[in-house]
Amino acid sequence: MTTRTHKDIFNLMEKWAPKHLAYDWDNIGLQIGSVNDETKKIMVTLDVVESVVDEAIEQGVNLIIAHHPLLFKPLQSIDYSSFQGKVIKKLIQHDITVYAAHTNLDIAHGGVNDMLSDALKLSNKNHLVTTHKESLYKLVVYVPETHAESVRIALGDNGLGHIGHYSHCSFNTNGTGTFKPLEGTDPFIGEKDKIAEVAEVKIETVIKEQDIQQALQIVEKNHPYEEVAYDLYHLAQDGETYGIGIVGQLDTPASLLDVCTLVKDAFHLDTVRVTGDQNKTIQKVAILGGSGEKFIQQAKNKGADVYITGDMTFHQAQDAYEMGLSVIDAGHYIEEIMKQATADYIKQLCEEIECITSQVDTNPFRYV
Ligand SMILES: [Zn+2]
Repeated sequence: MTTRTHKDIFNLMEKWAPKHLAYDWDNIGLQIGSVNDETKKIMVTLDVVESVVDEAIEQGVNLIIAHHPLLFKPLQSIDYSSFQGKVIKKLIQHDITVYAAHTNLDIAHGGVNDMLSDALKLSNKNHLVTTHKESLYKLVVYVPETHAESVRIALGDNGLGHIGHYSHCSFNTNGTGTFKPLEGTDPFIGEKDKIAEVAEVKIETVIKEQDIQQALQIVEKNHPYEEVAYDLYHLAQDGETYGIGIVGQLDTPASLLDVCTLVKDAFHLDTVRVTGDQNKTIQKVAILGGSGEKFIQQAKNKGADVYITGDMTFHQAQDAYEMGLSVIDAGHYIEEIMKQATADYIKQLCEEIECITSQVDTNPFRYV
């Protein structure tokens, strides 16, 4: 049976939710532990609190994947009597590694906001706020005919040269490469001080900006020459667009009150807070998991009839009300939807490792 390290699991997570998608203020990735430990059992959680760590210990978990970062503000001290110190001590004592995918998982395609909007069956979806437009590059590499296929396959197998739903995309032109090895070289082909002519293939493929280093490493590893000839062009067309929050349409228009019921059913809530006329007809819905108060104006600008989010304060709700935008505050905890979806993603890609979801309810609020 193949073993996997935590690093392998991090790589799987980052294939889905690349780190560069996270906001600058965020603290994602490894929180505590070791990237090189063998992964025995994984648990996905929204938060890392003491009861969740106890659950991980009891379940024999040695990797926790969390949405909310365990470490956010720089620590001045690790006091074992504080709640955070206790958590850190327990994690270290039990060799449990914690990894966080936060705003990168909010923004990723199929991420938290897609999960939330899918739970409401929204269609014609767009981003509430665009955060990233991918820059694309054309990589052109000149390879002797004998090695062209292995370079092409290595690039494609590593997810480079993807266009839409097509992998291993490249264009190949046969031609002649010339070079003269000078003093101090150890050429793969040709002799020192003699101009060599070699049958080469010019391989052209498309890569994303964040994949440039990886692509060059792959080319170097699979190319026989000491000096690899390549060109890199920035392309005028953009790649994929990413954003935070979703704006979409309900299947059929419904009253605001009915939308509240829909939200309660979809996210297993007893109550929600709502502003605006409950008989108002709702067709366009904006949704953003977590604290979405910053994006009230964007929800209004995108033509949403209602904005579903969490952590709305009195004044923010009042602002929304005054601008004619209804708000449903469903609480921050609806983000727990990420537990099952993340576990399903991991299970699909590595069947050999058990991956469970935390059963601890980390919502601090109760309605009485
Ligand atoms: Zn959150």
